[in-house]
Amino acid sequence: MNTDKRKVVLVGTGMVGMSFAYALVNQGGICNELVLIDVNHERAVGEAMDLNHGLAFAKSNMRIYAGDYTDCKDADIVVIAAGVAQKQGETRLDLLQRNTEVFRSIITPVVKSGFDGIFLVATNPVDIMTRVTYELSRFGAARVIGTGTSLDTARLRYLLGDYFTVDPKNIHAYVIGEHGDSEFVPFSQVMLATKHISEILDDERNSFCIDGMNEIEEQVRTSAYKIIDAKRATYYGIGMAITRIVKAILGDENSVLTVSAKLSGEYGAKDVFIGVPCIIGRNGVKEVLELSLTDDEKEKFTNSKNVLNDSFEGLKL
Ligand code: NAD
Repeated sequence: MNTDKRKVVLVGTGMVGMSFAYALVNQGGICNELVLIDVNHERAVGEAMDLNHGLAFAKSNMRIYAGDYTDCKDADIVVIAAGVAQKQGETRLDLLQRNTEVFRSIITPVVKSGFDGIFLVATNPVDIMTRVTYELSRFGAARVIGTGTSLDTARLRYLLGDYFTVDPKNIHAYVIGEHGDSEFVPFSQVMLATKHISEILDDERNSFCIDGMNEIEEQVRTSAYKIIDAKRATYYGIGMAITRIVKAILGDENSVLTVSAKLSGEYGAKDVFIGVPCIIGRNGVKEVLELSLTDDEKEKFTNSKNVLNDSFEGLKL
């Protein structure tokens, strides 16, 4: 991995990819070279021009250009936000199969370039596409990461912060499992600073209640649908989540983020890529943190893992 410069390649310059690029430029200081690649090269060229024209107003001094897969050779991270949209009448599995072909057309030339960094996948269904990236690249599991439930966790903290009127940064809570319908919140692990939420919910002096928690969990699970109904797609939040993960990697932060990572026996599972809290640093996933789940939460996790395994097994690689 390169140490003297921080270079990121973004494959897929659509709404999600460019929201990430925009956040990266505006947050500043995270990387100093950003390469944009898209099957629609003209679009990547236009996006690079547009971002470059804003550099005079940005904190960062970055080199941004539209490139090709040979540019991945000395990159630290390749972010993949490329994908095709569901066609009318197409099943989820058909879409998955088409996105697998898209990924083959990306990962083969990235690996051929000599790339030796970290893959970070945002394309949906993100847990499956991360596993596809792992299978196609044959990289070590620590170097293949999906955005997992990082955005869902941010949504959860925002909603809990609003409910308890506490800064979301002081709330320790995670959404784990599939980034999708079977994800869930292990409430046995939620803390407000150093206070367990069960203590707060049991305290009769306030009006906080478990129904409020269940409502919040449901809001997190359905918020992507609501945003899509309102504005067709979601992109700012995920763009910022990708930026956060890239920052944790390039800054060797050892931060805990709920990414999609490969399990190797944790939570009683192997091989599946699924959203779990992980320590993220310069070499990718340093450690998968295994939470002490209740029996009910363990059951939910197993269900989510089975949903992901079933989808993956239907794929032709
Ligand atoms: P988009 O259609 O705006 O952009 C997709 C881009 O991929 C396009 O620019 C397209 O030209 C490019 N592309 C397609 N095939 C390609 C190929 N073979 N090689 C290179 N580029 C290719 O879509 P979007 O709104 O940016 O969404 C991108 C993905 O992110 C989708 O799969 C979406 O579901 C996913 N997403 C994930 C999360 C998350 O939490 N992980 C959240 C929102 C969206």
